[in-house]
Amino acid sequence: MRMSVKEIAHAVHGSYTGEGNIEISSVFIDSRKVLPGCLFIAIRGERMDGHQFAASAVQSGAAVLLCHKEVEASDVPVIRVEDTSRALLDLAAWYRGKFDIPVVGVTGSVGKTTTKDMAACVLSARYPTLKTEGNFNNEIGLPLTVFGLEKEYGAAVLEMGMSNFGEISRLSKAASPDLGIITKIGVSHMETLGSREGILKAKLEILDGMKGRAPLLINGDDDMLATVGDVGHPLIRFGVENEKCDFLAQDIRQGEEETTFIIRHEGGCQEVTIPAVGVHAVCDATAAFAAGILLGVDSEKAAMALRGYQPSGMRQHVVKRDGITVIEDCYNASPDSVQAALDTLKRMPCQGKRIAVLGDMLELGTISRQAHTKCGALAAHNADFLLAYGPMAAQYVQGADAEGLKEARHFDDKESLAETLLSVLEKGDVVLFKASRGMQLEEVLKTLYERW
Ligand code: ATP
Ligand code: MG
Repeated sequence: MRMSVKEIAHAVHGSYTGEGNIEISSVFIDSRKVLPGCLFIAIRGERMDGHQFAASAVQSGAAVLLCHKEVEASDVPVIRVEDTSRALLDLAAWYRGKFDIPVVGVTGSVGKTTTKDMAACVLSARYPTLKTEGNFNNEIGLPLTVFGLEKEYGAAVLEMGMSNFGEISRLSKAASPDLGIITKIGVSHMETLGSREGILKAKLEILDGMKGRAPLLINGDDDMLATVGDVGHPLIRFGVENEKCDFLAQDIRQGEEETTFIIRHEGGCQEVTIPAVGVHAVCDATAAFAAGILLGVDSEKAAMALRGYQPSGMRQHVVKRDGITVIEDCYNASPDSVQAALDTLKRMPCQGKRIAVLGDMLELGTISRQAHTKCGALAAHNADFLLAYGPMAAQYVQGADAEGLKEARHFDDKESLAETLLSVLEKGDVVLFKASRGMQLEEVLKTLYERW
């Protein structure tokens, strides 16, 4: 990367009155990570203000500062703007413009990271592909990912997350996607967005930054996305249910650790196997496959690439030990992903009992009770046992009770839950672990594996 001070100042609509025009070779917002010769952007975060660390960034070798407040480090060029968070996005947009490569933007209520990782797998079959690391999907993570572009890259896949209106619009303008993907319209962030209509509107902001007639891939099975009409861009639908989908996954065969299916599209029919379980994963893979085809990846090569998909972080992972299958899925939980996980549990090959271990879904605001009850009711149909942990989890049990599940129990502590689970666990059983990150349900898994 090379950007000169004057170019940067121009891109961020900032003022720089110094003499020289030195070039920087990287961008940082964390003074502890600074490399010599970089641009340090002082961002005011929730807890910390980067302006306090400007001097230390210069000591570590920062060559240029971008600030919106006075800083005590005047021996390097300083570019001033009104708002450095805004400038970070503006600079990313400008830097993105230097690369004539296809960029895919992925948003949606659930399945963004999975779809992003799968799409990057598929595109890598044709192009060296840059992708968002982990979940680095906000107004800080996306621009920093964009600065990772180098001339060796032939494509990029960027995840776009949000919690309020305006965010996806700003992210999309920084990314200028050549192709957008909306995975699903769920119920997360109902508090800030008001309704599912509001959530749809917020996700559609991805169009704000999309180029000319760049296509938008949307989930054709989603009831809210079904209402989307003419948006001035070609709409392409993917899914597993709606026959009208342009990329339709059919004949889904779920194994113990992988899933095989056929994707039908205008250009043909392709068998695909992914090392993941669940119809939701098939849906994400179909979106990723479609993105690949639209960007010129060969169908067979796209399918082969998807075989190599690996989930990042603590996302769904199937572990087989001593005849027992564990679906580890402690990364996060929302009503949509819990429903998807319970559906997966039901479809898993199983010689014994199906056991759902569910922890609280956090941050659901006013819909929390109702959402837990609804997921509990679904568990009654998809599992033989429900073990629930957390303050809200009692609602799971209430929902399951109402649907007639006898074996539904609530626990206030993980230790008793683990003991009960160990006492009922037998060869042939399949156990699902699912909860919000904050519940740290993986601690139960740890106890389980230690005392198995
Ligand atoms: P975040 O908002 O944390 O960034 P995300 O949208 O990136 O979430 P993922 O991390 O891909 O979503 O998946 C989160 C959870 O949702 C996982 O448990 C995963 O198994 C499940 N999931 C993935 N794709 C779908 C889907 N299409 N429908 C429902 N659930 C899904
Ligand atoms: Mg994510």
